[in-house]
Amino acid sequence: MTIATTNPLTGQVLKTYEPMSDEQLSGAIERADLAYQQLRGTTIEQRGQWLTAAADLMEAERDDIGRLMTTEMGKTYAAAKAEVSKCAAACRFYAARAAEFLADVPADATAVSATRAFVRYQPIGPVLAVMPWNFPLWQVVRFAAPALMAGNTGLLKHASNVPQTALLLEDVIRRAGFPEGAFTTLLVGSEAVEQILADPRVRAATLTGSEPAGRSIAQIAGRELKKTVLELGGSDPFVVMPSADVELAAEVATTARCQNNGQSCIAAKRFIVHTDVYEAFAEAFAHRMSALRVGDPMDADTDVGPLASERGRDEVDAQVRDAVDKGATVLCGGEKPTGEGWFYPPTVVTDLDRSMRMWDEEVFGPVAGLYRVSSYDEAIEVANGTAFGLGSNAWTRDPQEQERFATDLVAGAVFINGMTTSYPELPFGGVKNSGYGRELSAQGMHEFCNVKTVWIG
Ligand code: NDP
Repeated sequence: MTIATTNPLTGQVLKTYEPMSDEQLSGAIERADLAYQQLRGTTIEQRGQWLTAAADLMEAERDDIGRLMTTEMGKTYAAAKAEVSKCAAACRFYAARAAEFLADVPADATAVSATRAFVRYQPIGPVLAVMPWNFPLWQVVRFAAPALMAGNTGLLKHASNVPQTALLLEDVIRRAGFPEGAFTTLLVGSEAVEQILADPRVRAATLTGSEPAGRSIAQIAGRELKKTVLELGGSDPFVVMPSADVELAAEVATTARCQNNGQSCIAAKRFIVHTDVYEAFAEAFAHRMSALRVGDPMDADTDVGPLASERGRDEVDAQVRDAVDKGATVLCGGEKPTGEGWFYPPTVVTDLDRSMRMWDEEVFGPVAGLYRVSSYDEAIEVANGTAFGLGSNAWTRDPQEQERFATDLVAGAVFINGMTTSYPELPFGGVKNSGYGRELSAQGMHEFCNVKTVWIG
């Protein structure tokens, strides 16, 4: 893929970059390794001050950063600005909580015949982060903030369509005061990942992206015996039971499916509705989906901007066409518009069956699959009948049913009566083909730590 900024609203290529040479790449890895030797010797307090300064810079420059993100990948300007604020908050969270998360954890010394025994969390070195374009700042910051606080350094291979956002983040972290090389953007294509991961100075990798990219990185990391965290796709269920507040569920369903122009790994994608409330939900949901305004993402009135790439839009359209050709019913949307901009309308498709791609593939655009079920057991069967297991949602006011959903949904997260969201305070990640390992919270920070046992006789 060419490393370039291409505006999804116009299809115009605005800026292209030459990939780094092998020599430049090796130099960047060397600087990351040297910065690691330096960073690991600094105090948590010092790193916290730098990360807080990064948060201040993000907030001060929020509008410019947001505009750049919108230009590179088409999310609405309002959403882009909110993403910048969320990143600043995450930096503050880790700056404030790292000392607690990295504190020694005492063990029962007597039980292990020691005078003292404890666990100490230590950094491991430069970590490669392969990141996607859909939340071009947040996906990176949720790796970088805990990694830097732990004393690791970051090497970012960002998606090829968001190079300017990647460079901007490197610049913010440098200006915040972190040592040269603590966080570096590598302008390279995905074919360079093998070489980077095989470099002995690089100690681990994290990827957020597609399943094929995850399999490839896991394979290389396996060969090289390096730790990986993989956050891959999802096809999250959104179950609506008879006791639910159906109007509220339909309202949240619309946001959950269409936020970020429908391009979110934790977007609800399959809406599984009990037959007792199916008609009411379907009508309210289709009504709300078709009322969304599609248009220029810089316009304050726009709810849904263009998809990030022409290829992505064609893929979404092909998935809908496949379902329709095999007998599915479109309740709203479903037609790829002609003209400039990679737009796709909010769409609801029902009467789906297993022969259709939409049944088990992730749809990365504002397209909802609607399923009718007649019992709790059937709802669980459809919800879990996917190779993915990232987030999940259930709507019910019945406390016993809430407990059952919390246990029975096979996913990295269960949100009851609300939409799946990432919070710095809570672990984030999946099971099954959605990947492994966790980001955010203390767990996310510990993924790239040496959990060292210390035993003193
Ligand atoms: P990719 O997985 O292709 O891209 C994500 C990142 O991985 C990019 O930096 C990309 O680099 C890199 N990459 C791609 N292939 C490899 C590889 N074989 N080895 C190492 N790195 C690789 O996602 P796409 O943008 O192509 O989107 C395709 C689908 O992936 C979507 O439709 C969606 O289903 C899923 N996806 C999920 C995301 C999530 O949040 N979980 C985010 C984005 C996509 P480069 O850009 O240079 O190709």
